[in-house]
Amino acid sequence: MSLPVVAIVGRPNVGKSTIFNRLAGERIAIVEDRPGITRDRIYCKSEWNGREFHLIDTGGLEFGEQDEILDHIKNQAELAIEEADVILLVTDGRDGVTGNDEEVARLLHRSKKPVVIAVNKLDDIKHEDLMYEFYSLGFGEVIGISSLHGSGTGDMLDAVVSHFQEGTDEEYDEETIRISLIGRPNVGKSSLVNAILGETRVIVSPVAGTTRDAIDTPFESDGQEYVLIDTAGLRKRGKVYESIEKFSVIRAMRAIERSDVCLIVLDGERGIAEQDKKIAGYAHEAGRASIFVVNKWDAVEKDDKTMNYFRKLIREEFQFMSYAPILFVSAKSKQRVHQILPAAQEVAEQHALRISTSVINQVIHDAIMAVPPPSDKGKRLRIHYATQVSVKPPTIVLFVNDPELSHFSYIRYLDNQIRQAFEFKGTPVNIYLRKKN
Ligand code: GDP
Ligand code: GDP
Repeated sequence: MSLPVVAIVGRPNVGKSTIFNRLAGERIAIVEDRPGITRDRIYCKSEWNGREFHLIDTGGLEFGEQDEILDHIKNQAELAIEEADVILLVTDGRDGVTGNDEEVARLLHRSKKPVVIAVNKLDDIKHEDLMYEFYSLGFGEVIGISSLHGSGTGDMLDAVVSHFQEGTDEEYDEETIRISLIGRPNVGKSSLVNAILGETRVIVSPVAGTTRDAIDTPFESDGQEYVLIDTAGLRKRGKVYESIEKFSVIRAMRAIERSDVCLIVLDGERGIAEQDKKIAGYAHEAGRASIFVVNKWDAVEKDDKTMNYFRKLIREEFQFMSYAPILFVSAKSKQRVHQILPAAQEVAEQHALRISTSVINQVIHDAIMAVPPPSDKGKRLRIHYATQVSVKPPTIVLFVNDPELSHFSYIRYLDNQIRQAFEFKGTPVNIYLRKKN
């Protein structure tokens, strides 16, 4: 499902990131519970009145060397126009309308995107009058807020959400495996898409669905329906885009949200980069199944140890994803490209695997017998029972006497025991603790 995108734009210091953090709040807190993952605080999923959306803080983007604030704002606005369904223009009510505000407004007017103006820092009721002059920017919706206190943000979100279009999300049926290829520019994502569609005997549907930011290619192979979500081939235009590394992360992020299986494409020739870890981290956090696809294997100078070396390197660099299988392929020579779809099918099955409560409890019971749970100040963690509450990814809730008594290393131990029993190959497994006396 493709969620609406809301982009926050505006001058520095008007309060964009304060607004972003407020709306991101809960999500970020959850993410921070998991160790070992790099975060990027410019992109998040948020929700208002049951409507989910993606939020981008364009203020957090870096556009390379630039002294001029105005250029920076213009780049933000350009991105927002290209990327967002609704643009939230934030201004500082205490400063009044500035020349830069007018400049951004002019740019935004040229697009057809809906714009909501949030006049921020109206902390006191007596400041309210300050918002009226912002109508002069020529957008119908001007909402006074204080992102510090949270006042007005409800009205602001009502205005934002009112612009979402109903029913534009395309859906594939439950059995269709949605696959995205994610990775840095030039690792070979587009080449792999072509190789997969060309090499393996696939029947590509006559009508290829398209969405705003990706080309979907539905196809069938060996009786299984797939959709390839290709984010790579599109939108390589515009110097702003190419100069922003973070933007490729945003694009990857949106593909991840829509997929069951992420093929994390690495460049065998050039090795692993920091950006690879970030992108993989997003797939992990989003709870998607993943496969590492080391591409350009044809171009790697190798002997009989090279593959093992690379495998070890991946395990070291992506410790949080030890569950993800690794394939070594070449889009160019087509070597092992035919293994990609069967591997995707396998991890997709594991991603959707449901284990009965009695079987899970047996495994947990045995695990507890082998290694007793930790205790703190004489109190020991007691696990009453376990149950799998959802799939994609498999999510297991442990009902315990006191979640505070738990320890990360013990949860990791249980995760290992669960994986030994059920494998859950290629998929993260979420384990949550819930208090029950
Ligand atoms: P950004 O550069 O647009 O992302 O702005 P920030 O979110 O970093 O905020 C800039 C400054 O304005 C910070 O010192 C914030 O604490 C402050 N600020 C943000 N929102 C409000 C508000 O509603 N009222 C007041 N008084 N200050 C605010
Ligand atoms: P993307 O930006 O990730 O979509 O990468 P592309 O598919 O556009 O590929 C980037 C470059 O890598 C192109 O010059 C490709 O020809 C090259 N390339 C892609 N796959 C392979 C491969 O398997 N082997 C070699 N030697 N080059 C490849």
